Amino acid sequence: MDILLPTVQPGLLVGILDVDDKSIEIINDVKYTCKVAGDCCTQLIVPVTDYDIHRIEQHGIEFDQIVSDDVPALIMPKTKSGALEKNYTIKRKPFTAECTFMEEGKCTIHEFKPFSCRIFPFQLKYVSDSKVEVLIHDSGYCPSVLACGSEESDTEKLLKDLLGEISNELDRREQYTKKYGKSIQI
Ligand code: SF4
Repeated sequence: MDILLPTVQPGLLVGILDVDDKSIEIINDVKYTCKVAGDCCTQLIVPVTDYDIHRIEQHGIEFDQIVSDDVPALIMPKTKSGALEKNYTIKRKPFTAECTFMEEGKCTIHEFKPFSCRIFPFQLKYVSDSKVEVLIHDSGYCPSVLACGSEESDTEKLLKDLLGEISNELDRREQYTKKYGKSIQI
């Protein structure tokens, strides 16, 4: 029987990805089908990189409309180099925790939403220059993730898709860095 995520250990390690040799290692099997609960867009602090901001700005949205000025910047490790990177957080609507881009339960910038939104409910933890651990978001907010047995899981596909998303993001960010200079590092 499937077990709902909030009853399993928060921050469950799903697997390990190597972005250089494109390998995946499955640690715990999971199954994920988005139920469009929207809690990820109404409850959580969403980190936004300068590259995310650049992509959103290209659609006519200004910096002040994207970035929160009441939540401190998050310091996160970069996946590839291990260098620390300062990330902004997404703007919230006044008096609620809801993301400013959420309208009637839908993301209005879905096609160019931040990387952390694209990989939710997973989050990455730096292991080495090419390796990241993949964890289920440790808030337990997402009701769409199930821990389950290997026969019924789609862990391999989830991790392969995630690896593709990460590789594409790293390539795009590398091109961005070549063109506009380094992102904020400390
Ligand atoms: S940008 Fe879109 S997906 Fe990300 S938190 Fe906001 S509404 Fe949700």
